[in-house]
Amino acid sequence: MKQAVKAVQHYIDGKFVDADSQDVFENISPFTNETINVVAAGERADIDKAVKAAKKAFHGEWGKLKVRERLAYIYKIADVIDEHIDEIAPLESFDTGLPISQTKKMVSRAAYNFRFYAEMVATRMVGEAYQVDDEFLNYTIHKPVGVAGLITPWNAPFMLETWKLAPALATGNTVVLKPAEWSPLTAHRLAEIIDKVGLPNGVFNIVHGYGETAGAALVAHPDVPLISFTGETTTGSEIMKNGADQLKRFSMELGGKSPIIVFEDADVERALDACTWGIFSFNGERCTANSRLYVHESIASTFIKRLKQRIANITVGDPLDVSTQVGPLIHQQHYENVKHYLKIAEEEGCEVISGNVPDSKGNYIPPTLLLHARNDMRVVQEEIFGPVIAAMTFTDEAEVIELANDVRYGLAGYVWTKDIQRGHRVAQAINSGMLWLNAQNVRDLRTPFGGSKHSGIGREGGHYAFDFYTETQIVHVALKDHHIPQFGK
Ligand code: NAD
Repeated sequence: MKQAVKAVQHYIDGKFVDADSQDVFENISPFTNETINVVAAGERADIDKAVKAAKKAFHGEWGKLKVRERLAYIYKIADVIDEHIDEIAPLESFDTGLPISQTKKMVSRAAYNFRFYAEMVATRMVGEAYQVDDEFLNYTIHKPVGVAGLITPWNAPFMLETWKLAPALATGNTVVLKPAEWSPLTAHRLAEIIDKVGLPNGVFNIVHGYGETAGAALVAHPDVPLISFTGETTTGSEIMKNGADQLKRFSMELGGKSPIIVFEDADVERALDACTWGIFSFNGERCTANSRLYVHESIASTFIKRLKQRIANITVGDPLDVSTQVGPLIHQQHYENVKHYLKIAEEEGCEVISGNVPDSKGNYIPPTLLLHARNDMRVVQEEIFGPVIAAMTFTDEAEVIELANDVRYGLAGYVWTKDIQRGHRVAQAINSGMLWLNAQNVRDLRTPFGGSKHSGIGREGGHYAFDFYTETQIVHVALKDHHIPQFGK
């Protein structure tokens, strides 16, 4: 697995630049644990420059464009990403360890993010009018907010960066992006693409660096009114505290510990397909992963037996090999964390069933099934964020609803049953932002994405993004002279 990768610089005001301090950090391969390259280590000074450039562009050239001129840039970004899928997807796999068959689809989706939001803004970013008797006409307009701060994780970097960037730009904001420090390569490629497209200087800026320095400086900056964050729940909470004094607007897409519930009448083969894909795709480093399995006791032994067979057959290997289904975890620190959870699972009394791992220096965790799990265990309550599923059984509907809801997270849920009434009943009883009934995690970009409880605040996707990335203003117009109380006359 080889790629020649240069040092990664910030992208500020239309130029690739080193960190103000000249400091760099190392980007490490998940496959070899060797240094791939060095990356500019941003801090407050770099964030200040990027925000200044973004603010100037917002009040300058970008803000003055006609909507159709702005959207022409957005469509062009989509085209250039599409032209380079075969080069961006391997780069993403190389940097993150995600299998190439999966990153290809994500890069294609990233291009679609731009096209989708260009269309949404062109056709759906409309205000509302309210006729109030014959006295008033009230109407709303949507205005871009200003400089949007975007802070993203490493688990599907290119897709998640563009998922925020596309609506932010399409609605007329300018952007400072702080990508995750463990996956800087495709963010850098995105800057090159945007540079090639020729967006006006300062519209899109990237500052690389650690969360505690670059990320925190972006959150604290007084000229950044809006922060869209995807990452861990604890980080989200810290960011909200740090932005509270300035009453920033936050979108929070946080962690998950999502249940998959398989009733006795489920299509077992399809439920198995969905269960294995849902936990082992993207190396299990997936916010919506079904990491808790609840299977009805009457079919549990058959289901578990077949799940074990599936696990034994999963191809774990080189992320750049098209046949690979599970690759190495992103970073040694995360690998150690997941391994620690496997130790905890044993201590808590689980039987740990493991699939294959290649003989490699990479951060490989075998696809893993935890048997004899219980809801009060840490491995059932806490997000492991690796290819690990905890299995439990249940006897009836009321019990499984209670078990499924008995975690602090509420991102996703999956229900498998052929009973249509029960399916909808259980779907609605699960406290999650998203629920799939007899379906794996497929999603139309028009639908809301986000979590309840400790999994997030707000929704991304479709027109929901307009509420976040724009300021809604109401204009009240009098149609005739109306009564005004005459104080002091
Ligand atoms: P993380 O919270 O460690 O880091 C996310 C980003 O925040 C990184 O860019 C990091 O540098 C930055 N950051 C860290 N501390 C900061 C601070 N004090 N101020 C500002 N920025 C800071 O998360 P991660 O490990 O990169 O990603 C994995 C997590 O993301 C998992 O919990 C996963 O469930 C979650 N996730 C959620 C969704 C969703 O849509 N709900 C999607 C993908 C990932």
